[in-house]
Amino acid sequence: MRLVFAKPDGASRTQFDKGDFITCTLTEAIDRLQKIAGVALPTKGVAAVKKLARDRNALAHWGLTASAAAIEARAAAVLDFLLVFLDTHLLPGLDEAQTAAAEATMNTVRAQLRGITAYVDKRTSDIRSDLALLTAVTVECPECAQPALVAGDGQPACRFCLLAWQDPAAAALDYAWIVRGQTPEDRVDGLRPVQLCPNCEVKALVLETATVAAVPDTVRLCLGCGTDFTDTELPACEGDCGRLLPANTEDLLCEDCTTAAWERL
Ligand SMILES: [Zn+2]
Ligand SMILES: [Zn+2]
Ligand SMILES: [Zn+2]
Repeated sequence: MRLVFAKPDGASRTQFDKGDFITCTLTEAIDRLQKIAGVALPTKGVAAVKKLARDRNALAHWGLTASAAAIEARAAAVLDFLLVFLDTHLLPGLDEAQTAAAEATMNTVRAQLRGITAYVDKRTSDIRSDLALLTAVTVECPECAQPALVAGDGQPACRFCLLAWQDPAAAALDYAWIVRGQTPEDRVDGLRPVQLCPNCEVKALVLETATVAAVPDTVRLCLGCGTDFTDTELPACEGDCGRLLPANTEDLLCEDCTTAAWERL
C-alpha cells in the first residue's frame, strides 16, 4: 500500500483510505512493482503503458500531436495488458467484496476495450489489401505499434496512423530505438544499428529490421529507399567505429577513421 505514495516513508493507512495523498509517478509505480514487489511484467506491456503516459503528458502540456488512430491502438494494448495484470496479480489477493468491485470495473474496461479493438480491427482490415503487397518493406510503426510502417519513396509512412516521416533518417532512429531498443551508439555484430544507405545515401539503413515478411527474422532494410541489403556484401570500416563503408570501395577505413589515423602519425 505504501508503494503507491510518492513518498512511501510518510505513508499512513488513514491517508490511503481517504485518498488524501500524492501518488508516485507511473514510471516509479512500474519500477517498484518490478524491483520491490518482484512482479514480472511483460516488456511489451510496460512499453505500451509508458508510451501512453507520455501521450497523456503531451496532451496536458502542449496539446497532442499523435493521431487518434495511434492513440486508440496504443490504448488497446495498455487496456489489454491491464486486464491480464489485474487478473494475475491483483484479483487473487482480494476479499469477496473487493473482488466484486474489481470485477465490475473490469467489465467496464472490457466493454471499452471491445469498442477500441473494433475500431483498430476496422482500420486494420481497411489497409490489409494494400499492405499485403508490401510485406517486404513493412515494419512495426514506432508511433502506433501496428505493423503498418511502409519504407520507401524517400518518405516512410504508416498506413495505420498516417504518420509520415519527412526525414527517413529520423524514422530509422525512431524504429531502432522505440521498436528494437537500440541507441545509435549500440552495436549489432560490431556495427551501429543505423547506417548510411549505399543506395540513397541517407542514414536510414536499419541493420535489424523485422519486416512483416521476414519476422521473426530480420533483414537489412533502408527505410528511406526501401532497398533490402541482406544479401549484399557491405564492407565494414576496419577502424572499429562500427560504420559500413560505401559499396565497391577500395578503402579499408571510413573518412573519419582515416583522418584519425593521420592525426595519430
Ligand atoms: Zn503508425
Ligand atoms: Zn536507401
Ligand atoms: Zn571508421
